[in-house]
Amino acid sequence: MKNRRTIPEDRLRQRVREYAARMRDGDDPVEFWAAFCGEVLAGAAEPGPADRPEADADCPPDPKTSRLHTLFLSLRTPVLLLNADFEVEVMNPAAVELTGARDLEAWSRGDHAPVPLAELAPWLEAALEAEGLSAAGGDACRLDVPVSQRYGERHFNVAVSLTADFSDRHDGYAVVLDDITARVEGERELARERNRVAHYLDVVGSMVFTLDAAGKVDMVNRTACRVLGYAQEELLDRDWVDVMVPASHRDEIRDCLYLVLSGQVEEEDERTFQVTTREGFKRMVQWQGQVLTTEGGLPVGMLLSGTDITEQRAIEEALAEKELWLRSTFVALGEAVLILTPQMSILDANPAAETMFQMAQADLQGKPVADLHVSAGHYDDFLARSTAAFEAGEQAMFELPLKRRKGEIFPADQSVSLIKGDDGSTLGVVNVIRDISDRKHAEAELKRSEEKFRRIFETIEEGYMVTDLEGTVLMVNPATCRLLQYDESELVGRNIDNLYKVAGERQTFREALQARGAIRGLQMTARRKDGTPIVIEANAHQVLNNQDEPVAMEGTFRDITRRIEAEKVLRESEKQYRAFFENNHAIMLLTDPKSERIIDANPAAGDFYGYPLEVMRTMNLSQIIALDRDEMFSEMRRSMDEGRTYFILRHRLASGEIRDVEVYSGPIMVQGAQRLYSVIHDVTKRIELEQEMKLLATTDALTGASNRHQFFTLGGVEVQRAKRYDLPLTVIMLDIDYFKSINDTYGHAAGDQVLKALSRAVSKLLRAPDVFGRLGGEEFAAILPQTGIEEGAEVAERLRSTLAGLAVAVGDDTVTFTVSMGVTQVRAGDRTVEEVLNRADEALYRAKRMGRNRVVRD
Ligand code: GH3
Ligand code: MG
Ligand code: MG
Repeated sequence: MKNRRTIPEDRLRQRVREYAARMRDGDDPVEFWAAFCGEVLAGAAEPGPADRPEADADCPPDPKTSRLHTLFLSLRTPVLLLNADFEVEVMNPAAVELTGARDLEAWSRGDHAPVPLAELAPWLEAALEAEGLSAAGGDACRLDVPVSQRYGERHFNVAVSLTADFSDRHDGYAVVLDDITARVEGERELARERNRVAHYLDVVGSMVFTLDAAGKVDMVNRTACRVLGYAQEELLDRDWVDVMVPASHRDEIRDCLYLVLSGQVEEEDERTFQVTTREGFKRMVQWQGQVLTTEGGLPVGMLLSGTDITEQRAIEEALAEKELWLRSTFVALGEAVLILTPQMSILDANPAAETMFQMAQADLQGKPVADLHVSAGHYDDFLARSTAAFEAGEQAMFELPLKRRKGEIFPADQSVSLIKGDDGSTLGVVNVIRDISDRKHAEAELKRSEEKFRRIFETIEEGYMVTDLEGTVLMVNPATCRLLQYDESELVGRNIDNLYKVAGERQTFREALQARGAIRGLQMTARRKDGTPIVIEANAHQVLNNQDEPVAMEGTFRDITRRIEAEKVLRESEKQYRAFFENNHAIMLLTDPKSERIIDANPAAGDFYGYPLEVMRTMNLSQIIALDRDEMFSEMRRSMDEGRTYFILRHRLASGEIRDVEVYSGPIMVQGAQRLYSVIHDVTKRIELEQEMKLLATTDALTGASNRHQFFTLGGVEVQRAKRYDLPLTVIMLDIDYFKSINDTYGHAAGDQVLKALSRAVSKLLRAPDVFGRLGGEEFAAILPQTGIEEGAEVAERLRSTLAGLAVAVGDDTVTFTVSMGVTQVRAGDRTVEEVLNRADEALYRAKRMGRNRVVRD
């Protein structure tokens, strides 16, 4: 245990000065005091001149030390000085009071025996030990320690500093307890307050954030979390702008926050901008900011409250759009619309109104609507009708003419209605006007058409009748009277039931009309006034009112007695026709002239063509006609030209065989349809015969060359053609040399063989258009159209040499022969073929005389 000594005053003064010099602005005064007192009092324990107890008694306490001591004693801050063994050596009355130690006197005098801290203030010892400070050593530290006392809890901020003796040896600790109870409680109160605020903010509908001076989120309410989809902890301490504001607006908003927080600009009332939710959606938020300041007015943060107006904005936009839509409807409307003030002057007019009144919008605006009315009287009428309707809470609708700029008056349908404000006050009047000139015209037209209808009604041949639903006749036309032989007055008011001849038909008529609402083409028998029947065909329908309920029956009918009779006759004639058709040996077909379909064929046709009748009835004419289209047309033309009543055609049988036929056709009505009735004659045999006869008449039977008559006929045609068209034509006359001797040598039959061989060889050498004929005996002639004398002579020479080389086999013999020829060309003066032939004959004669087997030209 050490003895306590008093520090000499000059020494203490020196120490205070030194200490004061070390003190800095920011130094905690409590700490300062703790350190200072620690040092001073430790110094007092320093061994030295003052270490003598007797000296204490001798020397009265230095007044300055005593002042300092007084200060120590009166300090409200508890101060304890511990020695290195963690024993309390000195403590001031405040500390005595805090620890509840007794012997205040002794402690105050500073001569109390040291007491272990654990004994005196176990709570403090425990707290210091927890900080690593104990008898075993430890460093200076600072800590908050709560103490439970009778009147509640107190809180101290405990500062522990190391004390040293004058030779700077550590010898203990100075413990200063700064009472921070008020602060702690204040803080708790503040926390409670904050909680209350946070709770309140959580229930408000707006989003609330508080930001610190750096723009980080301090606090966020539940609404904000809900709207933005974040959990509270995801937002706290994050940079608000970074998290909330879309990148495109971050700089702008950050600048704005900075300017407000730094006090450079006044905070704005509100600002609307988009923020991004956690999910990345954009919400339009209207933000209000309030700068949070210290009491001294320094900004320390910001309170932001925001209202999500995304939906509201969408509604506003929709509303704006609707307004636009209404406006465009107003503009686009075909009907003229005038918006009037309550005083009935024009506020607005749409383009249709401009057109209608032939006035520009600017001219219409401000004009009293009265100016558009035809007269003052009309306008009074307009006002009276409008006012009456308004008073009844209705829209006024009426027809009242108006006039255009140039005074033209037009009929108009008008509707007038009030525009009322939310409070029921009259804001204006809407006057919708439709020009009904066209409708008026239409009405006039209708009247004319009604007139027309009346005339038709009276003049048509068909009966027209209207009855009520019970069948009482309301109206008949003159044709009805004529057909039924009643007077109009006898029919009107009479029940239609009296007019049926067959009772059952009345029922059929009624039922059909009720079931279908209309009847077409119903055949019935009516009774004339004298009781005779009249067969009619009736059309009828129910007349409906605006509610689609039947109110009457309307019908037309016509007399078909004649038609029925005609049909009967036709049916009978059809029967006859059928019998004729079926039993005839002539081949008969019934076809549709349009489609060329075979409608019917009789048994003779079936036999001829070789098809079963059922098959024939499915066939088309094209399947049996063996001519192509062109051939068909030219035959038709030929038939017409020749005035024939038939066509000469070729038909194909089922076997594929082609037959020549003559077809006699004529139109016929069969069961109301236009048909073509054809009788077919097979003329194959006859045509073959005819062709044979024709051949016989024109050709030489032995050689097959044209006979003399045919030669002169064809030759005449060719000579005339050559003359007409000035074309060259050459004729050759040919005679066999010494033919008599062939006959004499080999016999007459051999001579015939020679004639035939010659004809064949010549025909082979000539061209198709050339005509070759036997003029008699062994004398032949050829006509070469479009051939000059040179070319003709060449042909003759070719014939001569060919024939001279010909060897004709006759029995065992081979006969050879030569010919002589005379050649000439048609000349301008030649009139007939005979003239030309005579000249050729003369040339031939010369050839004979010149020794035969030669060609002589003329
Ligand atoms: P040329 O060289 O002068 O013509 O002497 P040619 O013998 O041929 O003279 P001509 O005209 O006098 O003789 C024609 C003979 O042809 C006479 C006749 O008997 C014979 N003849 C006429 N027609 C036929 C016939 O159809 N068959 C046969 N085999 N001979 C016929
Ligand atoms: Mg001869
Ligand atoms: Mg002869």
